[in-house]
Amino acid sequence: MDKKEFIKKYFSETAEILQKIDINSIEKAVDFLMRVKSVGGRVFFAGVGGGAGTGSHASNDFNKIAGISSVCLSDNISLLTALANDEGLESVFTRQLQMHNLNNNDCLFIFSVGGGSERVSANLVSAIKYAKGRGACVIGVVGDETGYTARNADACILTPLVNIKNKTPHTEDFQLIMDHLIVNLIASLPKRAVFFDRDGTLNKAVIRKGAPSCPWKMEELELFPEAHKVLSDLKNMGFENIVFTNQPDIKRGFLTEEETRKISKKILSELPVSEVRFCPHDDSDNCACRKPKAGMLFDSAEKNFVDLSRSFVVGDSWRDMEAGKTAGCKTIFLRRDYNGSFQNGSDFTANNLNEVFEIIKNFK
Ligand SMILES: [Mg+2]
Ligand SMILES: [Zn+2]
Repeated sequence: MDKKEFIKKYFSETAEILQKIDINSIEKAVDFLMRVKSVGGRVFFAGVGGGAGTGSHASNDFNKIAGISSVCLSDNISLLTALANDEGLESVFTRQLQMHNLNNNDCLFIFSVGGGSERVSANLVSAIKYAKGRGACVIGVVGDETGYTARNADACILTPLVNIKNKTPHTEDFQLIMDHLIVNLIASLPKRAVFFDRDGTLNKAVIRKGAPSCPWKMEELELFPEAHKVLSDLKNMGFENIVFTNQPDIKRGFLTEEETRKISKKILSELPVSEVRFCPHDDSDNCACRKPKAGMLFDSAEKNFVDLSRSFVVGDSWRDMEAGKTAGCKTIFLRRDYNGSFQNGSDFTANNLNEVFEIIKNFK
């Protein structure tokens, strides 16, 4: 076979694999991973040889692109070699899963050609047995339907065999394609978000002449103490936390856009929030962003792949509730000392952020 022939054959085999792949098995794996993401679970990659390198690459992609906390069990070379020396090669993955306190929110993800047997890659077999015993889900991308992974994983993506001679290179090519396909698919799926108003919702309103106002400088920013835990818990449930706030005092000359940006940065650093949007306008500007208009919600949803109909808006003003309704979100009105008599048509009412969390957690 000359060079050109070899190249063409390799390509045609690769194309044949992509034609024959069982798409349902990929969907099934993604469903398991979406569940892991929504309950704040973690993905642990295990593989030997090429699979170890692919696991390292994939754990980068899962963390960075898919937003799923992830660890590759062959990345810590000190620990890996210590375990291999002291406890034997078979223990290297299982012992690390124990150290990470693997639980039923987590996933063990195997990249392997054979998928393990009692004689070859026994460390993978041991890890799968341990994961199943702990109630974690097991996903594999393998090239052998008779291996331990294919027979025991909750979702297994099998590389179709097109040429036995190229089984290993094709399977390992395909593992990287699956990594990229899965993380980009997960990143593109519509997310659920909780959109928070800022002043009087996440930070205390500044009372001026008896009326609620906003911080005009950083020193006046005081977050509610429960905000961090509530937003962390929401994030662990798979929600994006996004802040959207009217800041008409910019237009009115009481604070600058620069100071407002500083306050936004501070909030981004103190709370698990992915975006802070503000409208610097006043009524006379007739902009599309000033609440009760829903411009900020629509723009943010488009940018962050948010499904508004499965999202929530939380605020202490009728303007927040109105914007939320226009965008098709569920609305939660926060009752504060200064707004108790406000009329509002919100879906829910809460007395503090902890109650907001309970409402969202229990919403069916
Ligand atoms: Mg407010
Ligand atoms: Zn505006």
